[in-house]
Amino acid sequence: MMTRRKVVLYNPQAVFYTMPLALLAVGSALDVERYDVRLIDGRLEQDPVAAVLAEVDDALCLGMTVLTGAPIRDALRVARAAKARRPDLPVIWGGWHASLFAEETLLEPSIDGTVQGQGEETFVELVEAIAGGSWLSIAGTTTRTGNGIQRNPARPLRDANSFPAHNYALLAVERYYKLKGQRQLDYISSTGCYFRCAFCADPFVFKRRWTGLKPERIGEELQALWQRYRFTDLSFQDETFFTYRDRVVAIAEQFLARFATAAGSGRDQAANHSFTWTATLRADQAARLNDEVMALAVRSGLRRVMIGVESGSPEMLAWMKKDITVDQVLAAAQMCARHGIGAIFPFIVGFPGESNESVQASLALVKRLRSMSPQFETPIFYFKPYPGSLITEEVVRQGFRLPQTLDEWADFDFVGSSGPWVSPEKHDQIERFKFYNRFAWGPQTWPRRPLQMVARWRCQRDFYRAPVEKLLVERLKPLPRLS
Ligand code: SF4
Repeated sequence: MMTRRKVVLYNPQAVFYTMPLALLAVGSALDVERYDVRLIDGRLEQDPVAAVLAEVDDALCLGMTVLTGAPIRDALRVARAAKARRPDLPVIWGGWHASLFAEETLLEPSIDGTVQGQGEETFVELVEAIAGGSWLSIAGTTTRTGNGIQRNPARPLRDANSFPAHNYALLAVERYYKLKGQRQLDYISSTGCYFRCAFCADPFVFKRRWTGLKPERIGEELQALWQRYRFTDLSFQDETFFTYRDRVVAIAEQFLARFATAAGSGRDQAANHSFTWTATLRADQAARLNDEVMALAVRSGLRRVMIGVESGSPEMLAWMKKDITVDQVLAAAQMCARHGIGAIFPFIVGFPGESNESVQASLALVKRLRSMSPQFETPIFYFKPYPGSLITEEVVRQGFRLPQTLDEWADFDFVGSSGPWVSPEKHDQIERFKFYNRFAWGPQTWPRRPLQMVARWRCQRDFYRAPVEKLLVERLKPLPRLS
């Protein structure tokens, strides 16, 4: 019997517990008869370096998927330790950061190659080539050669249906359920996006292309996964799940056909009671849905959507090439409220040169959306010039210095803080607004009720001065709990 070669895949530590679907995709694409895939997740390990070192002695290669920001720090630690132990071990990085900075990533001596964009086909060929001893010229990769760094031809996005189903046996699914606090399975049904938002790296990496699994296949895969893992919630990790209305209808029908339990008589009474699901929805796509389609999706289990709004200012929306309107956002919100489903509407403020009027327009829209349903959330983020986007290119032209090394990129994570485009006074004002709006519009429950009433009073009058309640809550928060 042929000995299977070991391929080690590592997912770096991060502050969220989404299942590592990118590694799952490349690990599942390898021939199981020939490769023994070990997927290690730094978020599940007491000592991630030790866990990886325990596997690398007889490994063929080590692959990692790396996001820009803090995960780079952990990925670097693991790559350097593995390379120190096995200098001959090919260490390959893929994921967003390696797709955006194919060559720059290779300035780090512990990394030998990077994979750009969709990884399945590229990684399979790469692993085969590593096993064969010559792997420097695989399409979709960038590699270090004796003469320097070699960028190989890009690989076009391939039809998602041509890849095998993801092998969830590579993951400790129950441990993710525990960390998430619910039996929620992450699943991806499509890759890429047709849109061109100027703050987003997706158009750069996937060249505005999209590919999605066929509804029948999604139904089949999820039925098998549900039988095995009994998830009660399903989180679609697609960038734009609602790309085609007919596809959404067909997926909802798959769920109803495979999971529906008749609560009454007739098809209209049937509903999917096995699991709920969540997905991303663009406001313009929502405008193309109708109540009938939404009702079908809800019957199939849809409980919440995420609709990126980014700004309440039409001028800003046009400037960032978001290709949605404020009216479409409001119509989408009304549709969600009518059908009793939740929605997350993320906003971004603090773009370079953004006027006070523009920020105020966003805050006004946040307030309007929050007041429409207790099931609506409106997180507000500050603009960060993440690489690969048109706006980042513009701010770099204007003199903003992006990090240069991987160590600097590891510190590039200003979650909760703002860039140099937001004055301290403006930051303070936005933070006050966020605090009171967070408390004002949720369901009124004890013991938060008095704070909620004050917060709502303030929001209704746009009065955020002398924020004593905010100071009090922040003062109390860091105190240790009395046991
Ligand atoms: S923000 Fe969303 S819709 Fe816009 S380009 Fe990126 S993935 Fe596509």
